[in-house]
Amino acid sequence: MSTVLYNRVALIGLGHIASSMFWAMKRAGVAGEVTGFARSKATRDTARRIGLCDHVYDSAAEAVEGADLVVLCVPVGVMGQLAQDIAPMLKPGATVTDVGSVKQAVIDAIQPHLPEGVHFVPGHPLAGTEHSGPESGFAELFENRWCLLVPVEGSDPAAVSQLQALWSAIGANVGIMDADHHDLVLAVTSHAPHLIAYTMVGVADDLRRVTDTEVVKYSAAGFRDFTRIAASDPTMWRDVFLNNKEATLEILGRFTEELFALQRAIRTGDGDHLFDYFTRTRAIRRGIIEAGQDTDAADFGRGKTLK
Ligand code: NAP
Repeated sequence: MSTVLYNRVALIGLGHIASSMFWAMKRAGVAGEVTGFARSKATRDTARRIGLCDHVYDSAAEAVEGADLVVLCVPVGVMGQLAQDIAPMLKPGATVTDVGSVKQAVIDAIQPHLPEGVHFVPGHPLAGTEHSGPESGFAELFENRWCLLVPVEGSDPAAVSQLQALWSAIGANVGIMDADHHDLVLAVTSHAPHLIAYTMVGVADDLRRVTDTEVVKYSAAGFRDFTRIAASDPTMWRDVFLNNKEATLEILGRFTEELFALQRAIRTGDGDHLFDYFTRTRAIRRGIIEAGQDTDAADFGRGKTLK
């Protein structure tokens, strides 16, 4: 039997993550009334048409009024502005969280605006697809994926455990991490790989102009996977790189060094170096499958393309 964990939840931003949270919370029966707001009238109209939220408001301030939990589901670069907009309407005792892919910059942007008596528990679900917008969400998105909570100094333990219970109820495994560590881990596992995919697809696109349509026509699985990742939302990813600058640059520096070493091995015919390197990376893939974070199905297990 499900238990309502929050009587009123406000989703600010009604895209991929917010819509997945909405369907998942409704399915699990953990939220009473769910209100929502998005910037454009077009998105708000779509949300109303598909029944995304019990009530969609035309301003963020109205949407958060009386909410026990407010979830900021907007691009990282606008979190601060929204926090400022909603601050006067927040109910004392309410919890504010977010789902942003970067944590320290988001904490710095939100925290100064929150009034005394409002709990702040930043979060980041490690789940998503390359799709965006209110119609791209689905209730199963968070199943068996991790959601990292990043409590700030003074975060109320009861507020943290209540939010933890919500993420667990919608299928996620919950981990607690500090912001700097989060940003470094995500730079390795998500941010740098996205930049590499964007680059590879950009290079192929340049080449396509030379070879006509061959890049698309003979696109093999490796490149196809890059194109899927490189189809991710440009606003979201611009904001991720601008706001996780140091960690991403640190990882890209290391990446470049390794790339040079592999380049040299190819040039000098050092097959042992290449073989040993690829053997090591293959073991990492096996580890990911064993941890249940992907399957080894021939299509890379991406019926519902997770990343
Ligand atoms: P999305 O599908 O593009 O949705 C973003 C939503 O934010 C849209 O409803 C948009 O409204 C709204 N928005 C943008 N600027 C706004 C503003 N100034 N005021 C109010 N609303 C605004 O994005 P998403 O994939 O759900 O990502 C949302 C957050 O989740 C981001 O911080 C991202 O880093 C994080 N995240 C994403 C993923 C992923 O893989 N997608 C995974 C984990 C975390 P309009 O439609 O009206 O423009």
